[in-house]
Amino acid sequence: SKGAALVTAVAQRLASRRHQVDETLSSFRLSQEQLKLVKARMRAGLEAGLKTKGHSAIKMLPSFVYHTPDGTEHGKYLALDLGGTNFRAMLVNFRKGLQQNTRLYHKIYTIPLEIMQGTGEELFDHLAQCVSDFLDYMGMKNARLPAGFTFSFPCEQTAIDTGTLVSWTKGFKATDCEGHDVVNMLREAIKRRNDFELDIAAVVNDTVGTMMSCAYEDPQCEIGMIAGTGTNVCYMEEVKNIEKTEQKKEKTDEDKGTPDEEQDKADAEMLKMCINTEWGGLGDDGSLDDIITPYDTEVDQNSVNPGKQRFEKLTSGMYLGEVVRHVLLDLTRGSLLFRGHVTEALKTRDIFQTKYLSQIESDRLALLQIRSILQQLGLEGNCDDSIIVKEVCGAVSRRAAQLCGAGMAAVVDKIRENRGLDHLDITVGVDGALYKLHPHFSGILKETAKVMAPQCNVTFLPSEEGSGKGAALITAVVRKMQEM
Ligand code: BGC
Ligand code: MG
Repeated sequence: SKGAALVTAVAQRLASRRHQVDETLSSFRLSQEQLKLVKARMRAGLEAGLKTKGHSAIKMLPSFVYHTPDGTEHGKYLALDLGGTNFRAMLVNFRKGLQQNTRLYHKIYTIPLEIMQGTGEELFDHLAQCVSDFLDYMGMKNARLPAGFTFSFPCEQTAIDTGTLVSWTKGFKATDCEGHDVVNMLREAIKRRNDFELDIAAVVNDTVGTMMSCAYEDPQCEIGMIAGTGTNVCYMEEVKNIEKTEQKKEKTDEDKGTPDEEQDKADAEMLKMCINTEWGGLGDDGSLDDIITPYDTEVDQNSVNPGKQRFEKLTSGMYLGEVVRHVLLDLTRGSLLFRGHVTEALKTRDIFQTKYLSQIESDRLALLQIRSILQQLGLEGNCDDSIIVKEVCGAVSRRAAQLCGAGMAAVVDKIRENRGLDHLDITVGVDGALYKLHPHFSGILKETAKVMAPQCNVTFLPSEEGSGKGAALITAVVRKMQEM
């Protein structure tokens, strides 16, 4: 009959649509073999970065942090934290032996886009202005506090309190900062204001701060990870493996006068150093080209740093929504979505922030609710469209979590081999909205790390205010060493 024919035609159309959507999403599916390759490439990248002084895709930046905290840290410290999207000032009070009673006051300041992308002087003047406001708020303008500065971008360090910005990431592009010491820039900005003084004792990456704050609670924590606007990992490496720094030799020269015994003791205390891997740079030499899709290429080309941070662009909050949007655009152009209507909303950059991905992928959400989120974003669709959008989000975020899991497997296996162990128990201090708020990311990350590094038992410990608190802790450690 006519009716039956129509039903068949509709069913066929649906099946073919299904097939084409599956086809598109299959480019985001990674086999175990591919994940093994990613792990191997990450491992090779870590090794290369430890050896090369000059350019390597994974920078492996020495942090000059030699110890995780031991719980004897004490005193009041200011922590300043420039992250991916905002600036936080906090006052931390460590009380000896009373880890739980760490007092914390903080204030969050947003960084306006025009400041993120203006001049360096404007950016650092803005930061100094925020610190001034915070000290007013706390009534501590005249305290001249020791401060730790968390700076969540790659910095070349030669000591704990200097850091030269290598390159901006995550959409920052303030001028005249790359190649400059960010501690100096902050000091200069504070001097220009001339309304308070600060003793900046340490500059640390957010991964390092996160590791330190988690290590305060768990001594097995020797890795820090951020899965948020950007992505990165740091870990404790054997100093003897860090071939590019000659700091051991320098130290011997410096301390010529000290007796052997003391020298031995000093050396023994510096057996390990925290390395900020900057693993987001994996693939910048083309090593991920076989898994990169045309959608990723599009996202990369439209970013402020094309060709850079290729791994980060596959795995972090700043970019996942954009990858999703490019897939949706393609499906819509192929009449597989939104009845083929490419709307202005769909052409708008950055409409899919991480928080929407997290909502859309939440299993507690009914299709109607997804539809209403899409509606809020200006994307009118029916329930079938909602299903497809959810699948696209799932494919993109799943790949991100798997890639991070494979990367983490490389890191933990390296640490295990460093120590000549058959089995390693280790904790990763972790922070970032993707890890904390996305409904599936953390689960897939853990599962992948477990499968890819079967000889390691990896515990993930979410940090609270970690990156800033950690900077304060490092400042306390530095102070303690100076007092000794
Ligand atoms: C930066 C890292 C940082 C990470 C997480 C990346 O874009 O290069 O230094 O740790 O984001 O914030
Ligand atoms: Mg942060």
